[in-house]
This record gives sequence, structure tokens and C-alpha cells, in this order.
Amino acid sequence: MKSKVFIVRCISYEQGVVEEATQKLFDLSNIKSVCPEYLLFKPNMLSARHPEEGVTTHPALLETIVRLCNSQKKIIGDSPANINKPIELYWDKCGYANVSKATGIPLVKFTNSTMLKFQVAGQTTEVPVTEFIQNFKVFNVAKLKTHGLTIMTAGLKNLYGLITGFNKSILHSKFISPYDFSNFLVSYYAAIKNLVFFNLVDAVVSMEGDGPAAGQLKHTGYLIGGSDTVAVDMVCSKLIGIKPEDIPYLKIYKDLYGLPAVEIIGDTLTPVKKFLVPGIKRNRLLSSRFLKPFLLFLARYFKAIPIIDPSKCRHCYACKEVCPVNAISKNLKFNRKKCINCLCCFEVCPHKAIRVKKSFIARLFT
Ligand code: SF4
Ligand code: SF4
Repeated sequence: MKSKVFIVRCISYEQGVVEEATQKLFDLSNIKSVCPEYLLFKPNMLSARHPEEGVTTHPALLETIVRLCNSQKKIIGDSPANINKPIELYWDKCGYANVSKATGIPLVKFTNSTMLKFQVAGQTTEVPVTEFIQNFKVFNVAKLKTHGLTIMTAGLKNLYGLITGFNKSILHSKFISPYDFSNFLVSYYAAIKNLVFFNLVDAVVSMEGDGPAAGQLKHTGYLIGGSDTVAVDMVCSKLIGIKPEDIPYLKIYKDLYGLPAVEIIGDTLTPVKKFLVPGIKRNRLLSSRFLKPFLLFLARYFKAIPIIDPSKCRHCYACKEVCPVNAISKNLKFNRKKCINCLCCFEVCPHKAIRVKKSFIARLFT
């Protein structure tokens, strides 16, 4: 059976426009009639950033979805990358405090966790995820962006935020290479996919270039939804003009389980022209059987290292706090020997003060 993916044009975040588009998607998918009793709405709340910065799921979309679902008990929650700041700051800046006020649906903190056990490459792994998954199904309200480590973030990567607090950073130190991290993501997704009720990706304005936090905004003009997260991400990749196999976690998923056959329902999908996706050439080359051994040898030189721009840095220490291996000192110097190139510091810097410097080899292939 084919996985249905519903797509609707949505040209702006104006409340009326978002409401009309979301209502259309709900009608096409008929999800209103099957909403579970307990529903957790999980936006992409990566960082404490204003909606117009395009780093987080837009609050107008979140509010509309929350209103349209008629579940008996609804909550909104996410766990950002840097947990050393009060969560209320994130709720305010991202516009979610207003969503909660306007709808009466509470925002929740992912303070307590339950352990999720699964296998990653034959090894048993345990990760702490929010305890809400014991009773609530997840409405995954993701954002379409490029990503320094996983090439693209949409539905599947957004579920990583169900993992509580600093554990997300620690996992980066366990699964260091982009391949290992994507492999982890696929195994993690396989363990939680039954908890996901629906995915709706905010692809109205997406992020290209240095995503997920320091790229440029690009108007892409769609809402993309479905209950199969992998199928939804495949359509997202099509929208930004790349093949699913160019995204490491989808390639790994394909090798392990096979990619689903997708049936698109709704508006016509017109891929966005010249959407800038860094790292894509490298991945295409790495998937070539002929070149792979040579490129894997070279991979050690594919380094992308974070650099602080002192003129932009405001000394908030978000980068230092999120670093899983303590590679950033009190005076904000990087210890290159310790650094595992996870780019978490780059993701969380609220002032775009960290840029990624690529090695010569990496520049050649990206
Ligand atoms: S680089 Fe960014 S995150 Fe780090 S201290 Fe400066 S402003 Fe804060
Ligand atoms: S310095 Fe940045 S890129 Fe390096 S390990 Fe720490 S958080 Fe990751």
C-alpha cells in the first residue's frame, strides 16, 4: 500500500492564509475524525528565536493545528538543544507562549523521561525521551531546513527533540560521524514511529544554506503532511530539488527497510529552483560504489570546523554549554583536538556568530 502525503500551497504566514491551507490539508487527510484522545504537539523549537528568523516552526501554523485537532487532552512541548536557559524564554521568543494563551492549551516541560531501548548497528542503546510519550501520541509539527550534519531536517530529525535535555548533545559524542548519527536517527525513528500520529512540515518559508540556524530564508510555499514520516521527508526532499538518497538518513532507511511508495494528494508539487543544499555533492560522491573507498579515505579531511566571529559574539556562552565534549573554553577558544565537529555550537548560537569553515577537501566537494 502506498503512503499518502498531502500537500497544500500556503503562500504566507498570514493567519487567514495559514488557516485556509491547514484546513484544506486536514480535509484531504481526514485526520480530524481520527485524532487520538491525548495529543502532544511537537514543534521545532531549536533555539530561542523570533518566528521571522525561520529557525523554528511558525506559531501561526502551530496555533491553527492545535485549534483544529479535537483531542480530549492536548499539550505543546519540545526540548531545545541548549537547556541551560529557562524554557519560558524559548516559549516567549518563538511565539508559543502566545499560542498557549490564545488556545488555552498548556506548554509542557520535558523534565522527566522514560528510557527507550533499541538496537543501533547491533548494539543495544538506551535514550531518555519525554515521559509524555507514555500517554500521548505525537503531532510532529516540523520545519523544513538544511542541516550541517544530516543535509536536511524535516519530519524525522524533528523527532530527535523528544529526547530530553543535554542527552541530545551527549548522543552526538557517541555517534560522531554524519553516517553514524544518521544511522542512529533511523534506529531511533524505528523505535518511536508508532507513537507518531501525524507529521506536518512547515515549508512555507524554508531555510537553505547554513541551516538549521544560520542559513538564508527561501520562500517555498507549501504545507506537507502525512502519517508516514519517511514518506513526508521524501516529498520534502523533492521540493528542495534533491533525491531522497542524497539525504543520509533516508539512504540508510532505504538500505534497511526500503523506501515507501508515495502517493501525493492535493496541490501539484513544484520543486524550488536552486535551493542551496551544502554537503550534497559529497554525499552523492560517497554513494558511488566506485569512488567510495577512495572518498572514505579522504573523509577525514572533509572537516567542517566552527569559528567564532568576535564582532558578532555577545558572550552568551550558549555554544560552550551545549558542547558535548567540553571543547570550548571559558574565553571561548576551541580545543580542536577535543572537537568532534558535531556543529551543535553552530546550531545554538543565537547571534549567528559562529560560521563553519570547511577544509580544502570539503570545499572541493560541497
Ligand atoms: S559564539 Fe554565539 S553562542 Fe557562543 S558565546 Fe558568542 S554569541 Fe554566544
Ligand atoms: S566545539 Fe562545537 S562542533 Fe566542536 S564538539 Fe563542541 S559543539 Fe561540537
